[in-house]
Amino acid sequence: MNEWRPVPKPVHKRVKKTAKQRGQIMAEVYADALDRSQGYCERCGSPQWLECAHLVRRWKLDETTVNDVAMLCGPSVNTGTCHNWVDYTAEGRKWAEGLRNEFWQRERERMITDG
Ligand SMILES: [Zn+2]
Repeated sequence: MNEWRPVPKPVHKRVKKTAKQRGQIMAEVYADALDRSQGYCERCGSPQWLECAHLVRRWKLDETTVNDVAMLCGPSVNTGTCHNWVDYTAEGRKWAEGLRNEFWQRERERMITDG
């Protein structure tokens, strides 16, 4: 028998999420972050112009969780806002990394408490 057997296509597991998937994640993350912030900037407490700011460079993340972002006052292009400070100053970046560690630490503690 000389039966023709098509070679099965290699199954590629999609590791990177699509832009659409990322978008959906961001909507949830945004809602969770807003919930955590209670509507105030997570650095200075201002209720003005809150933006969901990444606490680490986006390309470092495979997936953005609520622990990787903070609600900060903006707009990020305006000097003097917390979002601008975090995005454009070394000091702000350091602070953001510290805050991110704190969020993850809290999550770990929650997991221990929940059993
Ligand atoms: Zn602020």
